Amino acid sequence: MTSPTPGAVHFDGVVKKYGTVTALKHLDLKLDPGQLVTLLGPSGCGKTTTLRLVAGLEMATEGKIWIGGEDVTHLSATYRKVSMVFQSYALFPHMTVRQNVAYGLTVKSVPKAEAHQKADHGLELVGLSGFGDRLPSELSGGQQQRVAVARAIVLEPEVLLLDEPLSNLDAKLRRHVREEIRLIQQRLGLTAVYVTHDQEEAMAVSDRIIVMKNAEIAQEGTPSDLYEAPKSEFIADFIGDANLAACEIKVVANGLASVQMDGLTYQVPAGCLSKGAAKMVLRPHHLHLHSPNQPGIKGEISYASYLGKEVQYTVESPLGDLFVISGVVDKPFAQGDSVTVRFDANQARLVAA
Ligand code: ADP
Ligand code: MG
Repeated sequence: MTSPTPGAVHFDGVVKKYGTVTALKHLDLKLDPGQLVTLLGPSGCGKTTTLRLVAGLEMATEGKIWIGGEDVTHLSATYRKVSMVFQSYALFPHMTVRQNVAYGLTVKSVPKAEAHQKADHGLELVGLSGFGDRLPSELSGGQQQRVAVARAIVLEPEVLLLDEPLSNLDAKLRRHVREEIRLIQQRLGLTAVYVTHDQEEAMAVSDRIIVMKNAEIAQEGTPSDLYEAPKSEFIADFIGDANLAACEIKVVANGLASVQMDGLTYQVPAGCLSKGAAKMVLRPHHLHLHSPNQPGIKGEISYASYLGKEVQYTVESPLGDLFVISGVVDKPFAQGDSVTVRFDANQARLVAA
């Protein structure tokens, strides 16, 4: 049924109900060893539930779960080779950093000297050599989260689970710590399941992203799959910024859709769509502003923000407000200017209406 590869995680038709609430509808998952896979989605879509099912902190209502080829569906958390990094670092405040990192090992009856040696090695891996004797309160938030990561990896888990690990850090640190987590995961070849509701964070750290919505998978793929080939309006809007405009597919031939939008016709990659109403996905940096006498979508600048390396515009148009990002910063358009919006139809995408 499934290969005996350490770190592989496999869900087959997993359903999770809490009383009358269905937290997961019918989840089929296959996670490859050595990869970092992110569960991404809005609050309440079932991400934490999925992670807790891998950890054995919740049991499936229906379906089966394998880790490393072993059926763990009914195995309790203690016997699963996984460790979890929580949102709140959950460090013991009265223990030193070294004791915190060694804690899980001592619980597993590893002799104290060996546990401390492994803890120091774990601290070295997360860049905190020499911090072992401090108390958690003597570390910054980012350092505390690295201690939590060290504590998880010294247990040599087959699967490392991270539930919104950066949400207690300020924006600047978040980027730094996420890069560190990703580098450690790659260096150790760990299989990791990472949960976040932040699409940029997901794009930045993942080999593969599973986007969830309403207790099921909306779409999965590499970050670029999701960005370049969204299969629904939800994904187009959730992964990166997108303008979505109503349009009509007149005919599809050789993979190209002939699309009418606001009286103009465009040849757009058809994806898996056929004739009928659709929505066109237009990324802000794919839209270009020109003088009003050129052919294209007519509009008026209702807002312009100069941000140094780019100018962001809101353009009022017959398609609705369009968000445009322009790299042309030396002669920007001003609020009230009439413009024409143009784009390369090859870069546009279509999703079902
Ligand atoms: P996420 O992590 O994506 O925000 P969760 O997996 O925590 O979502 O929750 C999914 C759904 O299950 C939500 O509707 C939530 O309210 C519900 N839920 C989660 N845990 C419990 C629980 N212990 N008891 C009842 N309902 C729960
Ligand atoms: Mg959650």
